[in-house]
Amino acid sequence: MVNQDILNKIRNAGVIGAGGAGFPTYKKLESRVDHIIANGAECEPLLYKDRETMLQETEAMFRGLKIMQELTGAAKVTIAIKRKNADLENHFKSLLDQYKFNLFIYNDVYPAGDEYVLVYEITGKRIPPGGIPLQVGCVVDNVETIVNIAHAVEKDKPVTEKYITITGAVKNAITTKVPVGVSFNNCITLAGGLTTDKPVALTGGLMMGGLEHDLSLPISKTMGGLIILPEDHYLVQRKSQSRQTYTRIGHGQCDQCSLCTELCPRYILGYPIEPHKVMRTLLMTGEAKERGSLWAQYCCECNVCSLIACPESLDPKNICVDSKQLLKEKGLSFTEAELDRVFRDVHPARDGREVPITTLYQRLGLTPYDRHAHYIETNLNPKEVAIPLNSHIGQPAQPIVKVGDTIRKDDVIGNMENGALGCPVHASIDGKIISVNNDEIKISAS
Ligand code: SF4
Ligand code: SF4
Repeated sequence: MVNQDILNKIRNAGVIGAGGAGFPTYKKLESRVDHIIANGAECEPLLYKDRETMLQETEAMFRGLKIMQELTGAAKVTIAIKRKNADLENHFKSLLDQYKFNLFIYNDVYPAGDEYVLVYEITGKRIPPGGIPLQVGCVVDNVETIVNIAHAVEKDKPVTEKYITITGAVKNAITTKVPVGVSFNNCITLAGGLTTDKPVALTGGLMMGGLEHDLSLPISKTMGGLIILPEDHYLVQRKSQSRQTYTRIGHGQCDQCSLCTELCPRYILGYPIEPHKVMRTLLMTGEAKERGSLWAQYCCECNVCSLIACPESLDPKNICVDSKQLLKEKGLSFTEAELDRVFRDVHPARDGREVPITTLYQRLGLTPYDRHAHYIETNLNPKEVAIPLNSHIGQPAQPIVKVGDTIRKDDVIGNMENGALGCPVHASIDGKIISVNNDEIKISAS
């Protein structure tokens, strides 16, 4: 098969980044690279989705990596996992030998799965500020994405199911596979039901994810975990603060201790991110505020500064998010000459400043929820699904079905206009279309 045919299969199957970002995978594989990195270094607390995917679909992951290697001409392939999953080394051993792939075992720190961190740790190269792994000859993909590549190329199987960890304030912490588009409520039932009467969901991880109060929302292709916490949990309280509140408190209480900067994972890699300087902008206006905001430009929103570093429990991460918005609106960034000067060497004390996962569990009140979410088969048959049309980066898919149409699982229901960045979306169950809008298509099971 020629490369373009393989890329078309990956695109037509709707394979997008399954680790959160949702970048269309075919696009990443169009270039020649030196190194393919399988990202199984899941670092958000409580999640086991990547570990369990690697265990359930080991051979498919290796075959997917081989397809990626052949497409891109990469000389090296590395599977990255964390030390807590070091037992996988034995599980992978014969396949690692057969395929001549490498295994990289990284410390149990947060954010180990950040591709800037992984690329540096594995290759010694740093992605340019604001850049992508391709610029240093790497492609990084989540392990579930790689499994989906194998299924797309070998079986023309579209992405209609999702591995997900369901944990937190639920009876049983589990990892399972569900049809794309099932509701959070469906998933909670699979996990034995809620253990709180005031539940709040976090879908993008405890550190980086936002809050959702609506449990009828659908599971998308990019979600790795559905974590339920009680409304009065410390993390929910912290993440619920309004902009007005975190700005007012930050304005009055930041003592410029700079711990937020000293522990910032991107700062200690040498990137020009200094949240304590961004905090100063709360006292500024005009050009001074704009110049100070530049120190937020390359923030990856990992939340270490707000949830771990700041002794005053202030929110430099959200101040950085607001500052990045200001930079975007004003079209501001460091000049190339400035960037040359402020992109420094890796901090000499970096090793001692990475945040151990155990610290996250203790500091964020997660110890009561620390359970291994083993994989179980659930074979969910939902009465209804809502398939998102905009899970991927790029343009949303356009609906190609109408209310009343009968469709089969795997049928394309939303497609891309010619040449647009993005992927088609598919029905995850047999049934009838019951609603169509620009965001999602609902299917009632037949
Ligand atoms: S959220 Fe905070 S710690 Fe993380 S990259 Fe941004 S400034 Fe640094
Ligand atoms: S750690 Fe907190 S108090 Fe210290 S400089 Fe950063 S935001 Fe201010």
